[in-house]
Amino acid sequence: MEQTLSHYFGYKAFRPGQKEIISQILSGNHTLGVLPTGGGKSVCYQIPGLMLKGTTIVISPLISLMKDQVDQLKSMGVSAAYLNSSQSSHEQREVEKLLAQGELKFLYVAPERFENGYFQHLLTRATIALVAFDEAHCISKWGHDFRPSYQAVVHKVFAIPQNFAMVALTATATAEVQQDIMSRLNILKQHVVKTSVKRRNLVFKVNPTYQRQKFVLDYVKTHEKEAGIIYCSTRKQVESLYEALDDADIPATYYHAGLSAKLRDEAQNDFLYDRTRVVVATNAFGMGIDKSNVRYVIHYNMPGDLESYYQEAGRAGRDGLQSECILLFSDRDISLHEYFITSSKADDDYKERMGEKLTKMIQYTKTNKCLEATLVHYFEPNENLEECQQCSNCVDKRKTYNMTKEAKMIISCVARLKQSEAYQVVIQVLRGEKTDYVKHQNYEDLSTYGIMHDYTTSELHHLIDELRFKGFLNEQDEILLCDASVETLLNSNEQIYTVPFRQKSKETVHINTVEGVDRKLFDQLVEVRLKISEKLNVPPTNIFSDYTLEEFAKRKPTTKEEMIHIDGVGSYKLKHYCPQFLEAIQNYKTYV
Ligand code: ADP
Repeated sequence: MEQTLSHYFGYKAFRPGQKEIISQILSGNHTLGVLPTGGGKSVCYQIPGLMLKGTTIVISPLISLMKDQVDQLKSMGVSAAYLNSSQSSHEQREVEKLLAQGELKFLYVAPERFENGYFQHLLTRATIALVAFDEAHCISKWGHDFRPSYQAVVHKVFAIPQNFAMVALTATATAEVQQDIMSRLNILKQHVVKTSVKRRNLVFKVNPTYQRQKFVLDYVKTHEKEAGIIYCSTRKQVESLYEALDDADIPATYYHAGLSAKLRDEAQNDFLYDRTRVVVATNAFGMGIDKSNVRYVIHYNMPGDLESYYQEAGRAGRDGLQSECILLFSDRDISLHEYFITSSKADDDYKERMGEKLTKMIQYTKTNKCLEATLVHYFEPNENLEECQQCSNCVDKRKTYNMTKEAKMIISCVARLKQSEAYQVVIQVLRGEKTDYVKHQNYEDLSTYGIMHDYTTSELHHLIDELRFKGFLNEQDEILLCDASVETLLNSNEQIYTVPFRQKSKETVHINTVEGVDRKLFDQLVEVRLKISEKLNVPPTNIFSDYTLEEFAKRKPTTKEEMIHIDGVGSYKLKHYCPQFLEAIQNYKTYV
């Protein structure tokens, strides 16, 4: 087992859960593996697949995932292919021929393929080593991405008259979804391998910002060397954010299901091949994209449930290096999801569950508790919770201060305006600005005009936001409203506390990387990797992950013997890729 891992993948040790899952499969047991995103689920079926006789069938819901995985296996010298509707009938026949001749170690197929009688016939004749269900939560109606075609496949797989193990793999399964998968695939409790969903290299942040676009532009600018995904909830929003980035001369690409297959492929490949660092996308992007050096995932909107959030956010930092998952949201995101639920055609039971999931998602955005612990608790209610000390809530050690005085000033200002006004008008009046509108409305005559002239616009925004979150003010379409109940506040002794305003987008981010890395050399090695990637048409991180390059740039190996000891270097890669890296390191050492 270890030998296969090291020979093909170049990894020196198994990650938690991998060895247990592989052992179960090799003993012929139907197995469920729940490993966090980036936990290395592919290895769990690839290693037994390489060790067992016959072909491993991998059922996978997305075409992009198949291609990546097949490319990766081929880059390790393993015979692999996929069958899906994107291929010509000639290409499909070629693959079927290889399957019939027993020449494939791995075959990736979409669930729909099982509806094809000829394919079923081929499977009956082939020697099957193992059947793997990737993204297995799609089997369950209670999962966040249910696909009915997946359930039909299960029956077809059981009908194949051969003895082989099945493995179901997923990252984001609640207890209910796990139970559902187990009963559908006849998996016994003792054959479930589960590791903590915790991913210590991910730093979670929630930012209830009113200036999402500005936040994103600033963030992307200060992280220009890093790859990141920005998720928006609608296609329209994807395009408008992309345009904003483009206007600011920030290279980016965008992706959503409304684009042609060609444009989607282009966008995905530009991102995968490091030609564009940033992709703005709907949730149609990313499932199965194995790009290990995604350093940040920003959610421009709040998703509808924590499973989707964790899965999408988890696309950051698959190489184990520190990465950020930032959730920006406004209360308007909530009504959008409420609308989705109420207008859905699903039965009441289902709607109720979706509503419960939405509530948990909203709680995540509002909690003061550790964000990582909140996520872990959602998936593993029995896990002992500890604070991560790195999420935005844990780091928020800033002392709260009493903002009752400011709250009273703001609320009396809102209450005295002639009519309900937008945020910015309230701020202009508080700051005593002389805009045409303010003059036209005679707001200069109000006693509250200019009472907060020494506060910046951003600070006032922050204070108003706090009052909204605490329920003293309401907002509808950017218009601030207050009702009679605030009178009681103005006359009571109730105290309101907040944290001081801090421009979040200006924060410097310390990415925790391998210590002692020679950054100059690292940048040169990235260039070497890019050249090989272009030449061989293999995504850069399939050649070596950032982690492995950082190790090279730290240890500066000059011989193959030194290189083989580094995590990520296997025999195949040593032979095919390492010479160029050795040469670059040698040259660097000579001239520096
Ligand atoms: P997921 O669980 O999200 O499907 P992948 O299978 O794509 O994760 O693995 C994530 C990354 O971790 C890949 O780049 C993979 O090659 C790497 N990986 C998997 N197993 C190990 C291991 N034992 N040691 C180091 N890296 C590993």
